[in-house]
Amino acid sequence: MSDLSDSISPTQYSDEEKERHRIYCYLVMSLLAHYWNPWKKGVDGQYNWTGDLSATPSTYLGHNIACIAVDGNGKIVDFDFNHNEIFNSSIEHAEARLLRRLFSLNTHFHSSNTFALPRIPDDESSLVSKALNVGADILETWEANFRKSQSNYWKALEDVTIYTSLESCAQCSGMMAIGAVKEVVFVQQDPGQRSIGNILFNLNEGSAFSAPEPIPANKIDLVEFQYLDIAFKHFVEGVKSLPFHEDGNNKDTSPSITSFLCTKEALEIFKHGRHKMKTLQLQHKLWKPNQSPATLTNEGVLEHVRICHNRAIAVGRRATPQTR
Ligand SMILES: [Zn+2]
Repeated sequence: MSDLSDSISPTQYSDEEKERHRIYCYLVMSLLAHYWNPWKKGVDGQYNWTGDLSATPSTYLGHNIACIAVDGNGKIVDFDFNHNEIFNSSIEHAEARLLRRLFSLNTHFHSSNTFALPRIPDDESSLVSKALNVGADILETWEANFRKSQSNYWKALEDVTIYTSLESCAQCSGMMAIGAVKEVVFVQQDPGQRSIGNILFNLNEGSAFSAPEPIPANKIDLVEFQYLDIAFKHFVEGVKSLPFHEDGNNKDTSPSITSFLCTKEALEIFKHGRHKMKTLQLQHKLWKPNQSPATLTNEGVLEHVRICHNRAIAVGRRATPQTR
């Protein structure tokens, strides 16, 4: 798995940049540690990989996958979680949900602004109908240009970095490409996605339609990337003989990555990330990627991340009932 990831990101990062990226990854893991839920198969039956569940809320709203969006100044715009289960949908992925909200937040353009003027049936002999139709064309062109100059929605995410806990799927990679997201950092590789983000990035490199640069977190020296990789391999091997879940004669021995995310091992690694977020001592406190007064230093990022973590816990899961 890690061999594949080594080929993904062409960019090499300085120690200062790596430190900055890691801070955001710790926040993603902290959110997962807080909202982690192992009840993928419901409350019945026996879970063999989860440890003691007696104190764990039983509501499984979706897989244990989270992401955040960060703007060019280093500020966190928003966060979201996978909510497949609560919406009975296989497309309610964390990144897809987050991207839709980012565009909503950026909305300068409302559907009421659009209008398509009715055309009069073209009559070759009628100068009036020709004149009116040409007038409609001019007005629509003006409207389109006005909207274009006002909204710039296709550029809204061009300085945005997405940090996600699991490598993105084809849907979310495609949405990020269409949305012109700058880059996507993922805390864990998902071999099931076959590096689709990398494929899109290479396909579109140098074209006007550019996909975000995929950055596996081992490129920024996030040790939890390797921990998750090793733990997942352990699960894939072990689940053949020790089912993830058993209910009567039904034994779930699938090496599913979303089942792995319900294991105690995965949770402990997310907690490891949370501990880092809370106790981190920075090496490059005053560094920032540009000299804009609005851009946070690494020290500012860490403080901001800790505040956002508390805020995220207070407001709960996005667009769902708050269960804690
Ligand atoms: Zn996805």
